[in-house]
Amino acid sequence: MAVGKEEVEIFKARSDKRDYRRIVLRNSLEVLLISDSDADKCAASMDVGVGSFNDPDGLEGLAHFLEHMLFYASEKYPVEDSYSKYITEHGGSTNAFTSSERTNYHFDVNTDAFEEALDRFAQFFIKPLMSADATTREIKAVDSENQKNLLSDAWRMNQLQKHLSSEDHPFHKFSTGNWDTLEVQPKNRGLDTRSELIKFYEENYSANLMRLVVYTNESLDKIQNLVEEKFSDIRNIDRSYFRPPGQPCKSDHLQILVKTVPIKQGHKLRIVWPVTPEILYYAEGPCRYLGHLIGHEGEGSLYYILKTLGWATGLSAGESDWNLDFSFFKVVIDLTDAGHG
Ligand SMILES: [Zn+2]
Repeated sequence: MAVGKEEVEIFKARSDKRDYRRIVLRNSLEVLLISDSDADKCAASMDVGVGSFNDPDGLEGLAHFLEHMLFYASEKYPVEDSYSKYITEHGGSTNAFTSSERTNYHFDVNTDAFEEALDRFAQFFIKPLMSADATTREIKAVDSENQKNLLSDAWRMNQLQKHLSSEDHPFHKFSTGNWDTLEVQPKNRGLDTRSELIKFYEENYSANLMRLVVYTNESLDKIQNLVEEKFSDIRNIDRSYFRPPGQPCKSDHLQILVKTVPIKQGHKLRIVWPVTPEILYYAEGPCRYLGHLIGHEGEGSLYYILKTLGWATGLSAGESDWNLDFSFFKVVIDLTDAGHG
């Protein structure tokens, strides 16, 4: 049941034929409904305001591991992995990711299979199974993801940047998790990862931190009924968002030069500045201006000069790793051997 159909005005382009409605369910879950009579597929996305910054100390990767476990099975649909199977068998795809402050789950599927797909999806957030069996298997899955990341220069550079930031800031931590942080170390301290996982879910996943978007070919009233029926039972324990303690880089972490040997051949120069998050000034978009100016490739640009000198083969500039509390602006230059020397 919706608390109120707060008919907030949603601004849309005149050519946009879709209808939109924002509702808030009685459990405080905020939902955006989108009706598109031309849609040949339906989709839903749930964004939960809990991410790796919420990981308890000594259990690095727990939020990411929970993302894996929710996908697996629920009390209503206990057959393992049946959600993913159902979606792919009905012409759809599904994915999820865990970032520092959020975990996002989403799927699309053929219109005639949407109602059941949505019911399976809603059950992640109502009664997930999180069986002991699946626990070990999924810790292994998280570990093999990390093994793959270890071979990627981009992942290695990201972790190095975290490592070079303030130790008392959650940005410093290892966020994806592996066999060591989720199995070996907790065991050594007498902890059972599955009980910690269930505790983490119960203490953090709350309807008031969730935002749902549902997109279908049905009318807004029909989608609203469907959403109210399927999502009203998500528990609300009125949690607040985790707020990190400001910028992760203090003066000790700035003005430093680090040299690393990449896995792939080639040279890259990365220059990173901590900046105020652009989202706080989204209307003005200061990082986009800077990104265009520094990343410009025409005559007289930085890249043009480096290329003419035979020093660089690529240059990109822009904001990355941003959230509401801190952000970075990065310039990355692909250097030639001459540019490196
Ligand atoms: Zn994963």
